[in-house]
Amino acid sequence: MPHTGHILHGRYAVVSCHVERPLDDEAWTRFAALQERRPWRFTIAALMRPPAPGEDEERWLERAREAQARGPLGLHTHWTAPDHARPTGGDPAALVREQGAWLRAKGLDVEFFCGGGWYMDEDVAEAVAELGYTDCTATAFRPDYLAPDAPHLQLDEPARLELPSGRGLLELPTTHSIGMLARGLIGPFRRPVVHAYFHDTDLLDPRRRAVLRVALAFLGMKRTASDLGELQRGFRPEKTMSFANSRA
Ligand SMILES: [Zn+2]
Repeated sequence: MPHTGHILHGRYAVVSCHVERPLDDEAWTRFAALQERRPWRFTIAALMRPPAPGEDEERWLERAREAQARGPLGLHTHWTAPDHARPTGGDPAALVREQGAWLRAKGLDVEFFCGGGWYMDEDVAEAVAELGYTDCTATAFRPDYLAPDAPHLQLDEPARLELPSGRGLLELPTTHSIGMLARGLIGPFRRPVVHAYFHDTDLLDPRRRAVLRVALAFLGMKRTASDLGELQRGFRPEKTMSFANSRA
């Protein structure tokens, strides 16, 4: 596989939000205002958890359309429950296909995926690739709550993953939490892309909001602000690897 090189050159940062509680009015109002304001020129991607049974689909769709008008939109699957992200059984890929088909039928232009609790397996990766999404589930850090053998992708820079079906999946890993950035942990990170994430629920807590402000300011001063959509269109990872080799 020849190196295609970067179309975008430089050191970028992008920011995404895991929208865990899209139907919580306070969390949503705060997230919407932040996304609208584009702090430090960051266009924040909304990676939204779809409505669970019993939640208001119409209001969810209204909010997803608003988010899509302000920035990149992604699917953030929670397999078990709104407050339990990782799967506990069943067929994880089937739920991703079902949610992707529903979003498409509703006319939403979803381009990204992030597995809840950083869950990813080969079948889910195939489903994400079939839907044409770019994946953000890999992390550069090891989430400390995961058991050593828990399915998870670990990558510290964008890569093209080759799947057993022959499909390719663009992976733009999540590299930093806002807590890591606020502690100044970006310093030794020499990769071209920092992808920082936070949760909408962080916006409900004054202390977490302060951490986010510090983190975004730090990132905005150190890196060129970009967004997931721009990276998806203009960034060609130098690395191609098989899905199996990206398993941590
Ligand atoms: Zn989540």
